[in-house]
Amino acid sequence: MRIEEDVKLGFKDVLIRPKRSTLKSRSDVVLQRDFKFKYPGINWFGVPLIAANMDTVGTFHMAEVLARFNIITAVHKYYNIVQWREFIERSPKSVLDYVMVSTGTSDADFNKLQQFMALSSNLKFICIDVANGYSEYFVTFVQKARATFPDKVICAGNVVTGEMVEQLILSGADIVKVGLGPGSVCTTRIKTGVGYPQVSALIECADAAHGLSGQIVSDGGCVVPGDVAKAFGSGADFVMLGGMLAGHDECEGTIVEENGKQFMLFYGMSSESAMKRYIGGVPDYRAVEGKSIKLAVRGPVECSIRDILGGLRSACTYVGASRLKELTKRTTFIRVSEQENGIFS
Ligand code: 5GP
Repeated sequence: MRIEEDVKLGFKDVLIRPKRSTLKSRSDVVLQRDFKFKYPGINWFGVPLIAANMDTVGTFHMAEVLARFNIITAVHKYYNIVQWREFIERSPKSVLDYVMVSTGTSDADFNKLQQFMALSSNLKFICIDVANGYSEYFVTFVQKARATFPDKVICAGNVVTGEMVEQLILSGADIVKVGLGPGSVCTTRIKTGVGYPQVSALIECADAAHGLSGQIVSDGGCVVPGDVAKAFGSGADFVMLGGMLAGHDECEGTIVEENGKQFMLFYGMSSESAMKRYIGGVPDYRAVEGKSIKLAVRGPVECSIRDILGGLRSACTYVGASRLKELTKRTTFIRVSEQENGIFS
């Protein structure tokens, strides 16, 4: 056994220090970014936010709305080929440019992925998603996906340490998903004792990825727009959001009524609710690593998106970043106590 003594930090432990700025208005800030991805050499332009591939967030309806903001949706893996075909037939390239096709790592998942990707050459993003990206089996799957889809952008995770980011990029990932345990409906840290505070994970993983011309996406733990700014400030190229986009009209979640108020069910993809729904129950050998919550119904996602983008533009003006791309370089974090971080839970 060994203990690492340096303190690792999460979103709640830091604030961004303001800096002198020449920007006159928040409207001067450019949030769009241009990326050229390592393996396919594809150029992409957009706002680097991604709706999480959870079944009540990464929906086709969400993708249609977020594409208008040039934001990506990682579409969940539970749609079938008929639903995908219908979606692709009605979606112009301007929507499909912002769609990630999600997959697990079983043979059946791989077969489905091949069928979905064959539906349109406009689909360019693949998201290979497992809770624990440290297994050799996962690395082999990423290699197989890279060999099969040389012209697609592959996002793979989740991991939280630099050496595994390097391994995944060298195995064929363009973007590595970073986050272990910070999710709003995740209970991994409670069930397993495993995890890594997100700000430190991002700082360390960004350094590893950028050294190999790869990118990272911060996955999980953002509960307010300020957290999204902190994720970009820590070095994330993309930020994936689950809970912040849940509970909206586009989510296709189950609505329940309590005392005359409407709520939408939102659950982790490793929760009992998800396992009952998709695999008929919790297997004997597994612990549940997600929980279910009820969210007050929040209306169209567009309002929440504008709030997040407004917060990001404002964060950039506070540190004099005229483009989101400059936010990391211009970020100095100060460590704060929980009472000072402005978030009251
Ligand atoms: P959020 O934005 O809600 O804080 O986090 C979203 C992320 O939480 C997802 O993209 C996914 O990586 C993670 N997640 C979703 N469901 C579960 C779950 O049931 N268990 C765990 N450990 N993580 C989950």
